[in-house]
Amino acid sequence: MTLIFRKPLPNVEHPEMPADVVIVGGGPAGMACALRLSQLIDEHNARHPEAQLSKENIYVLEKAREAGQHCLSGALLDPRSMKELLPGFEREAPLDAAVHKEGVYFLTRTGHYKLPITPPALRDHGNYVISINKFVKWLASKVEEAGITIFTGFAGSELLYDGNRVTGVRTDDKGVDKLNEQKSNFEPGYDVKAKVVVLAEGPRGSLTKQLIQKFDLMKDRNPQTYGVGVKELWEVPAGRIQAGEVIYTMGYPLTTKEYGGAWIYGSKGGGSKDGNSRDGASKENIVSLGFVTGLDYQDPRLDPQHVLQTFKQHPFVAKLLAGGKMIRYGAKSLPYGGWWSLPPLAGDGWMVIGDSAGFLNSARLKGIHLAIKSGMLAAETAFEALTKDDSAAATLAQFQKRVESSWLKDELWPVRNFHQGFKNGLVAGIFNTGLQTIFNGGPAKRLPSHAGQENLKPLASLPADGGKEASLLGPAKGDGKLTFDKLTDLYHSGTKHEEDQPAHLVIDDTNICNERCVKEFGSPCQNFCPANVYEMLDDSAAPNGKRISLNPSNCVHCKTCDIEDPYQIITWVPPEGGGGPNYDGM
Ligand SMILES: Cc1cc2nc3c(=O)[nH]c(=O)nc-3n(C[C@H](O)[C@H](O)[C@H](O)COP(=O)(O)OP(=O)(O)OC[C@H]3O[C@@H](n4cnc5c(N)ncnc54)[C@H](O)[C@@H]3O)c2cc1C
Ligand code: SF4
Repeated sequence: MTLIFRKPLPNVEHPEMPADVVIVGGGPAGMACALRLSQLIDEHNARHPEAQLSKENIYVLEKAREAGQHCLSGALLDPRSMKELLPGFEREAPLDAAVHKEGVYFLTRTGHYKLPITPPALRDHGNYVISINKFVKWLASKVEEAGITIFTGFAGSELLYDGNRVTGVRTDDKGVDKLNEQKSNFEPGYDVKAKVVVLAEGPRGSLTKQLIQKFDLMKDRNPQTYGVGVKELWEVPAGRIQAGEVIYTMGYPLTTKEYGGAWIYGSKGGGSKDGNSRDGASKENIVSLGFVTGLDYQDPRLDPQHVLQTFKQHPFVAKLLAGGKMIRYGAKSLPYGGWWSLPPLAGDGWMVIGDSAGFLNSARLKGIHLAIKSGMLAAETAFEALTKDDSAAATLAQFQKRVESSWLKDELWPVRNFHQGFKNGLVAGIFNTGLQTIFNGGPAKRLPSHAGQENLKPLASLPADGGKEASLLGPAKGDGKLTFDKLTDLYHSGTKHEEDQPAHLVIDDTNICNERCVKEFGSPCQNFCPANVYEMLDDSAAPNGKRISLNPSNCVHCKTCDIEDPYQIITWVPPEGGGGPNYDGM
């Protein structure tokens, strides 16, 4: 069966909608940007009754049906930027627990060793355990109270240009069938024509990718590198872990060749919106646990969902979870590259913030506070553009300057070489981290890096039995209690899409999948996708007896395929707005 991919429909008129500012993506970065802009407009209007600015034409576009539904994180919140955005926010924000205990462990196959000193980057006293889903929902309520419109269920699908100037965003066409043709309920997307477009799409944003390619923005930068975090929420018997207790692990089940580690946070709340479990009872004994695997591993058979299942079988973790129940599942990528992988942050008509730019401190596994701060600084710049009625590159370039003179840079600069320091494995990485801590990120100003998928080795060069990595490879079987196969896990992500729509995983050339990849790399898409979207089906007519098939409805929007495919022929584009995972309580 021929695969039909989502692509712009010909001869469709898109109604225009004028806007001052359009923010694409309603995660922490986008919401903070909207809220700060609203505050600045309120302050301006109070000072200048004669020259009022309106918020009517400021919009946030969010592809999820409800704000926060596609947001997945650990999550520990460093409150620094929230204290600036909404002083006293702690009184009303949904914070599950203040961190009161932390520990970093090195795991061997069966043993665990607590580091005598918690590395400074992982000291979390003063931070809060949160559900990013609940937190973003709450931020969205603040944005709406402030009078800014959030369009949920609307994805930004294309950037609009006038020459080299970004002039707006086209939203997704709705009611397109599997053959990429209009259905009877077809509704064309809007052309939201904006003075300023702020891209806040999270990691590997699809519009951000278009922009980066069009203007070759990563020229002279380190390529962005990524990890993928696979997460489960568990309800465990009382007394196993306290809300506010934080555990990080390194080592097992990864070998010294892979980069990554796990988190275990004691939390409250559960799988439902209000922090109560589905049976209505308030829960104190929720565990957020997950494993982040660097997307720069070598063996194309490695499966990040399998890594999490193997991790859970370690006695240290199995004991914590025994008798408990897995209640939610999800996965999402995160950018690791740090300071040297940031693209230029602004140009003619546009700015890029949060994970879309790469504002994440990978030494701390934290990006929420940086996403918020970058959104606030972009808002200050957008406000300046509105008051001057000038959103050309020179005005928006002030965003870059604001970032460089803020604590964002102070935090990211000392860890600018952190991830690069692990390129020769864990031991070298720990040594380099020590050096960087002593020398403020040095001795080198900038260590180079390369795109993670370039590390993938051809199958022929790897041991057939998987060697030391065997327990990380291929599909996990699952016992249904402690460990789960992918489809069982996926069921707990709540992901749902309109079935009758073209595939939103756009493969440039499926011949490469069927003729080359299956032989050279053994079709790693089947392994790295945490949602079983990619399958190689038996087909005697295919050159190697297998052909690629897709289950796009399973997709949890983690973007791993767009990042990790060895031939870089997969492009994730937004499906019809509203479809995707349901990360309530995650
Ligand atoms: C597994 C994992 C664990 C983490 N743990 C922590 C932690 O403990 N502490 C911490 O501080 N950070 C943590 N992070 C990082 C943190 O979650 C991110 O840095 C932060 O969420 C980035 O915010 P953002 O708004 O830039 O992007 P996101 O949170 O990704 O939000 C982007 C939003 O944009 C929407 N969107 C995307 N594309 C479009 C489009 N084209 N049109 C419309 N809407 C769109 C998405 O649906 C989403 O709602 C973790 C990340 C992961 C993946
Ligand atoms: S298809 Fe791609 S974006 Fe969707 S879940 Fe799989 S790897 Fe993630």
